[in-house]
Amino acid sequence: PYDVLVVGGGPAGAAAAIYAARKGIRTGLVAERFGGQVMDTVGIENFISVPYTEGPKLAASLEQHVKEYGVDIITGQRAADLTRKQMIELELQSGATLLSKSVVLATGARWRELGVPGEAEYKTRGVAYCPHCDGPFFKGKHVAVIGGGNSGIEAAIDLAGIVKHVTVLEFADTLRADDVLVRKARSLPNVDIITNAQTTEIVGDGKKVNGLAYTDRESGESKKLALAGVFVQIGLVPNTEFLKDSDVGMNPMGEIEIDSRGATSIPGVFAAGDATTVPYKQIVISMGAGATAALGAFDYLIRSSVD
Ligand code: FAD
Repeated sequence: PYDVLVVGGGPAGAAAAIYAARKGIRTGLVAERFGGQVMDTVGIENFISVPYTEGPKLAASLEQHVKEYGVDIITGQRAADLTRKQMIELELQSGATLLSKSVVLATGARWRELGVPGEAEYKTRGVAYCPHCDGPFFKGKHVAVIGGGNSGIEAAIDLAGIVKHVTVLEFADTLRADDVLVRKARSLPNVDIITNAQTTEIVGDGKKVNGLAYTDRESGESKKLALAGVFVQIGLVPNTEFLKDSDVGMNPMGEIEIDSRGATSIPGVFAAGDATTVPYKQIVISMGAGATAALGAFDYLIRSSVD
């Protein structure tokens, strides 16, 4: 069995594995794909101390750093269930089971996609999901935010300070965001809000986004907007479906509940990064959380090991 088994190979998982392995304890890392969301990112300008890098490059450095520590890395495997008996048992979709004295869950999250033509084609070429990450790339330009919930309206307020103009498109007839956010957004001169708008297509010139098409659900009319960027803000889904039959405590959104040491509701099971209730989902934040969870697991091990 492992002392610490990390589930996930994104920034949180990589940091957890390095911190655990540096304690000289038997560390394993199982992930579907090393690098996580970072692999889907092009420019990264907020990884502190590195003014600019690109996702695949950062992912390769993460993997190389983990490999320097003799961590047992298993990729191409999906976790399917977790149970705590004498040991913590992580069942994989392949049918195999991994045993460990402690576990760090770092399976991340994924942005909910619109599923309209052009979205996949123009991802990272005008279609964006993270205003903290990609907002500055659209300085001085017109952008749209799809989604009028809290994350959409927060994104609109945030982007309004950076870009030239923001149009918010909400499918329903009212915004679902908190009143205070809606009032703030409506007070900004360069933010327009359109409700009853069903986005039907993201269009571009073959290289990058130059607009979008939507249907006015009231009149049935098709309309077009000229834009340089589209921020899709219709939800971030944690990759925690495999825990639904486990006893790991989660909030209604499926985010794993953790304390300040990364501990979950199950003794010996820790969690970090975008899969948790952490309010801000970013690379540096995930890495810090991964380190915290690994140190939490180490503390747990030195207090519980009697063998
Ligand atoms: P993830 O990176 O999501 O990694 C999850 C890991 O778990 C992966 O290895 C995955 O394969 C694995 N996994 C998932 N489910 C299972 C399972 N059942 N079994 C086994 N393994 C599993 N943040 C920034 O700070 N700056 C940016 O510029 C930036 N740009 C972004 C651009 C895009 C397009 C996206 C999508 C995100 C961006 N982010 C950015 C956010 C950042 O990527 C995330 O906050 C960060 O990657 C979260 O790290 P994580 O380790 O928690 O999860």
